[in-house]
Parts: sequence; structure tokens; C-alpha cells
Amino acid sequence: MRRAFVFISVIILIILFIFTFNKVEILDKKQSAVMAFHKKTSSKNFTLKAVDGFYKTHEGDSSIDSRIEEVMQTTFRQPTEWGLHVTGVKNRLRTDEKVVALSFDACGGGNGVGYDEELIQYLVKEQIPATLFFNRRWIEANKETFLMLAKNPLFEVENHGTHHKPLSVTGNTAYGIEGTKSVEEVIEEVMDNHHFITKLTGKSPKYFRSGTAHYDEVAIEVINKLGLEAVNFDINGDAGATFNQQQVQDSILQSKPGSIVIMHMNRPEHDTAEGVKLAVPILKERGFTFVKLSDYDLE
Ligand SMILES: [Zn+2]
Repeated sequence: MRRAFVFISVIILIILFIFTFNKVEILDKKQSAVMAFHKKTSSKNFTLKAVDGFYKTHEGDSSIDSRIEEVMQTTFRQPTEWGLHVTGVKNRLRTDEKVVALSFDACGGGNGVGYDEELIQYLVKEQIPATLFFNRRWIEANKETFLMLAKNPLFEVENHGTHHKPLSVTGNTAYGIEGTKSVEEVIEEVMDNHHFITKLTGKSPKYFRSGTAHYDEVAIEVINKLGLEAVNFDINGDAGATFNQQQVQDSILQSKPGSIVIMHMNRPEHDTAEGVKLAVPILKERGFTFVKLSDYDLE
């Protein structure tokens, strides 16, 4: 009896030892990946924050982390393009069906932290699906609204950047706004908010749209290597929420089968909601239905 007790105790001790040893090894691996990542970008502490977010939200899944590592080690060429529709950006749904994807940016910071409740309530009332691109600053200023929208299956939540910067690997500017200056800054602009959204919603964004919607083609390559897609538009619905309702309506009505319309949901004082309310019934009469980006492949 006593021998059996000693035997069982020894077995338990061995199991405990193996379990503890493995755990330490796993932790060491994670820690060294974080350290390696941090070391490469030690002049900027932003990346560590992103990596921290990653480990909190993706415990046990290292797919994105290994992608970041790979991108950090890739040598990229100098970009030759700069603008809205550079090589690699998706601007349309790949379909001939009479469908349109409405997309709304929530820019945040100096670009507007407002919430266009009238617009969203209209979409909900009419059951119009839409893709919403959130900047981290907007989410921080409207946390409860963000969570409420993220819970609504009518909408899909996507990434509109961390600091709302044009996405450049060389520091190009757009509308006087300074872009990111390196591959590291591109990764931070994309991944910090990616992790932030994932942590809040439990779901990772699939699409990215930069602040000002400007990119160079190398920044697009970085996004693709991270497993994401950069999405712009073929219909500029509200020109940064500067159009009046007639202009918004006219713009949306230019939609063709597979169009992606860009508009804004962060400037309730402007006319975007009014224009949407005018255009949506007319598009419906013309036989169009409304879809989310993820309903189709993009081109
Ligand atoms: Zn924006």
C-alpha cells in the first residue's frame, strides 16, 4: 500500500515537472520573439505595444506574428507610385451582379470624432449592410458606440489605421498630412489598430484603408504580406464629407455593378446621411442590392 502511494507520488511529480518545463519553454519562445521584434524597432516603442496586444488576443496562434517577423526581414525596393489607386489596391467587387458595397470611414482625431447616428439608424431601419472602417482614435472616443456597431451583423468592422496616416514607406504626404516613413511605421499604423479591434471584438479585420486613402505600392505589398487587403473605392461618395446632399446623391448614383462607395460616418454635421437617404431608394428601384465587401472577392 505504502509502495503504491510512493509510486503514484513520483509519477505525479514527473508529470508536474514536464508540464512546468514545457510551459517555461513556451513562454521563453514568446518572450524572445517579442524581444527580437522590439530590438529591431527599439527607437519606436509602438511596436511592442502591438505585439503585447497580439499575445493578449491571439494566445496560441502565432500566424500573424510570424508574418510580421517575415516582413521585418524582407528588403523592399523603393516605391514609384503614390496616390489613391496604386498597384495592389482593391477598388471594386469582382462581379457583374447589380450589387454595391457602401463603405463608411470613422476617422477620429482632428479628422472628426463625431458619430452620424442619423446615417446608421437609416441603414439599420432599411437593413442596408455596410462595411465600416474605424480609426483607433475614433474607437477610443466612441467605445460604447463602436462595440454596439460591432455587434450588429448588418455591419462589418474594418481597419482605418492607428494614427490616420497616409501609408508610405518614405514619408510622402497627402493633403498636407505626413505619411508613415518606413516599413516599420507602416506595420505599426496597420497592426496596432488591428490588434486593438481584435481585442475589443474578438474578430480580426480583413481589410485596411489608410487615412486619406493614399498609399505607395510597397506599403500595399507590406499589407498583403501581413495577410490583409488594402481597399479603396471606385465611387467617391462624399469627398471627405464635404459634399452637399445633392452631390452625395449624384455621386452614389454613378455606381455600377460591383462598385465600392467611400463615405464618412464621423461628420454628422455634414450632408452624407441626407445624400444616402436620397440615393439608396433610387438604386433599389434600378435593381441594385447592397452588400458587404466580404461577400465578394475584390479587384
Ligand atoms: Zn479617414
